[in-house]
Amino acid sequence: MDKIRLGKTGLMVTRLGFGGIPIQRLSDNEATEVVKGCLDLGIQFLDTANAYTTSEGCVGRAIAGKRDNLIISTKSSHRKKDGMRRHLELSLKHLGVDYVDLYNLHNVSTLEMYDQAIAPGGVLEAAQEAKQAGLIRHIGITCHTMEPAQKAVASGLFETVMFSFNFVGDDAKDKLLPLCRQHDVGFIVMKAMAGGVLQDATIALKWLMQFPDIAILLGVDKLSHMEEAVRIMNGPAALTADEQRKIQQIKDELGPTFCHRCDYCQPCKEKVSISMVLSQKSFHNRMPPAHVFKGWIADALESGFRCVQCGECEPRCPYKLPIRDMIQEYTEFYSQKKAAFDRAMVNG
Ligand code: SF4
Ligand code: SF4
Repeated sequence: MDKIRLGKTGLMVTRLGFGGIPIQRLSDNEATEVVKGCLDLGIQFLDTANAYTTSEGCVGRAIAGKRDNLIISTKSSHRKKDGMRRHLELSLKHLGVDYVDLYNLHNVSTLEMYDQAIAPGGVLEAAQEAKQAGLIRHIGITCHTMEPAQKAVASGLFETVMFSFNFVGDDAKDKLLPLCRQHDVGFIVMKAMAGGVLQDATIALKWLMQFPDIAILLGVDKLSHMEEAVRIMNGPAALTADEQRKIQQIKDELGPTFCHRCDYCQPCKEKVSISMVLSQKSFHNRMPPAHVFKGWIADALESGFRCVQCGECEPRCPYKLPIRDMIQEYTEFYSQKKAAFDRAMVNG
């Protein structure tokens, strides 16, 4: 597996890294086996977070005895200095390590959050003190919106930035990656598959491979998915004409405003499954209608009809999506599809 230099950290990381969110869905034993399998495939860059429930513990069990060759990254979204210190202690304990290579201020997605984080007595200080104490080697930041990410990169305070990057959400290409290169800040890709919106790993990863100096995290809960990704990353990088056509088709279908399925907009007091409602086109495109209009999928998609348009979810969306308008649009779309399905059933 190729390695890249992660900006001014000087760390050499495998171009493909392990993202620790999806293993939370597995039992601890299954999750540990998936991480071990990824290590066997040559993945040596692993990212997790205090917030990912069982993830750090499972990564810790998988890396026991192998720590020296690995680059371990974790994060805290605590907004208070003491809280971040406690999170780091827990992370070290769960991971079973004396230090982490990269510690990230997690989800700093508004300018206000950013200013608080870097203010005297803020969480950046906690990270800097931990670095001096040898508990962490480098300090990074993760952002879901552009402005704080740009500010962080230009500040000289952070050695890496983790940001969403894929062919349907490619703002970073012109607005962040050049800035990272200018300031020698390592660029780490999150949401390589656009939070599950993209289904075809080949075109998603090959599109990213055109940027030779970025590290790509891939969250997996099946080893076969990482095996496939490694195969793709070791194969030809150039997109074929057919793959380019597919990319364009998907971009046209999704449009510029799409839900990244991060669920930061939750909780909704009416229990609307916001991300399911807003990303339902992928269900309609991929699944037979009989599967979409029954069971848990229908329940989730029909939860959109419960929306009372209170707007409480919108300030929580890091992508500033007009959720209320989108829910109206998608519930109408659902009704039309369902009516067509019902007509087809009646007509046999
Ligand atoms: S606007 Fe709709 S989806 Fe958003 S919190 Fe209110 S009820 Fe829930
Ligand atoms: S609406 Fe926004 S916050 Fe909610 S899942 Fe989609 S992208 Fe995330």
